[in-house]
Amino acid sequence: MRFQCTDCGDELPIDQARNPYTCSCGGLLDIVHDFRSVDTDQLKREFDNRLSDRMSPYASGVWRYKELIHPLLPEPYITTKYEGNTGLYTSSAVASYVGIRELKLKAQSENPSGSFKDNGMTAAVSHGRYLGYTKFTCTSTGNTSSSLAMYAALSGSSSFVFLPERGISLNKVLQTLAYGAHLISFPGTYDDGIRFSELYSEALGLYVCNSMNPFRIEGQKSMIYEIAHQLRWQLPDWIVVPGGALSNATALGKGLKDLHDLGFIDKLPNIAVVQAEGASPFHEMMEAGGNKLKPQTNPSTRATALNIGNPPSWKKALHYTMRPNHSVTVSVTDTEIMDAKAKVDRSGIGCEPASAASVAGLRKLVRQGVIDKESTAVCILTGHVLKDTDAIQEYHLDVDTKGKFANVFHNSELEWTKIRQFVEAAQ
Ligand SMILES: *Cc1c(COP(=O)(O)O)cnc(C)c1O
Ligand SMILES: [Zn+2]
Repeated sequence: MRFQCTDCGDELPIDQARNPYTCSCGGLLDIVHDFRSVDTDQLKREFDNRLSDRMSPYASGVWRYKELIHPLLPEPYITTKYEGNTGLYTSSAVASYVGIRELKLKAQSENPSGSFKDNGMTAAVSHGRYLGYTKFTCTSTGNTSSSLAMYAALSGSSSFVFLPERGISLNKVLQTLAYGAHLISFPGTYDDGIRFSELYSEALGLYVCNSMNPFRIEGQKSMIYEIAHQLRWQLPDWIVVPGGALSNATALGKGLKDLHDLGFIDKLPNIAVVQAEGASPFHEMMEAGGNKLKPQTNPSTRATALNIGNPPSWKKALHYTMRPNHSVTVSVTDTEIMDAKAKVDRSGIGCEPASAASVAGLRKLVRQGVIDKESTAVCILTGHVLKDTDAIQEYHLDVDTKGKFANVFHNSELEWTKIRQFVEAAQ
């Protein structure tokens, strides 16, 4: 296991702390594994055996795959809430909305703090503790901070969270506050916060758990390991993921590469990365056929977790996820996102707005004929329905912003005939 710079290619030994994990050239560091000694069949059996474990770190949906994520980390440093272990649901209701033969939804929203950020954060915090840090930091659109605050509290450490003043869901701020993080609210954007922590964290003794922390990407790879494991190592034609900072898109591509290189799967599925139209610099770069991202200065989307104009991990995503002829990007409007969310919620699975971008994007790609309607797909749902209750209020109840599939209150006196009429007329 070693670090490699995504820009200049320089390599560094893994035990060299490089907080906040940027190379001297300014590039991001990536983790490169040495999987030569991995015995795939034996590991498959081991992964199966661990499914009956309920108490050790291997009961976690991340650490179950430790050999592929962080083989060198000594067990006592693992801080886990048994993250991962999330449901993979077949939904015919959402499939028919999307217009595809078979659709499964991977509910990363079922993680302990309510988003997939836990898959990566357990790895980052555990590694930080191993390095001896007791103070952790991140800049966040909300879910990263909730996750960091949770793991810091769990491990008896403290967290310092930089929050842009605007464009963050109140639910996420409150969750972070409740877990006891030191909150620093600043005027500016997510991108400003990232830059600040890059410059000053090491001097402040803070271990940086932003998405540039490469251990987060290693942990997030477990998402696709778990999907493959749940499907007995037979993946669908397409995997669809929302893209903000692009760490999850990177983890998906990198995790798939591991599985393929090691022979866990014999065929690579196609990948679709979906961005919100108001914050889609990666999609625009891909459309232009370019390989240099032009940051967007005023990103704007209702899907707050995707409201990122300068995604830190874009080069990694380009490298790991954008295989020629097998990967596409697409952007969707906020209305498309919110309508898709209403369908996912109504199916009983539920998600926050950003997550529904995957479903909205798949629907668009099927309609455009890019994805065949006879194919099979898994959409990643990244965050929990309660992560943004304002969005629910706006969509279903507020007169000005009410959506196409809004649900309503029925006001009635508790009178037998009135209620009977209502119940009988309702579906
Ligand atoms: C962070 C987040 C995203 C975006 O993931 P990236 O790795 O930043 O691209 C999408 N949805 C939710 C709910 C998130 O919390
Ligand atoms: Zn470099």
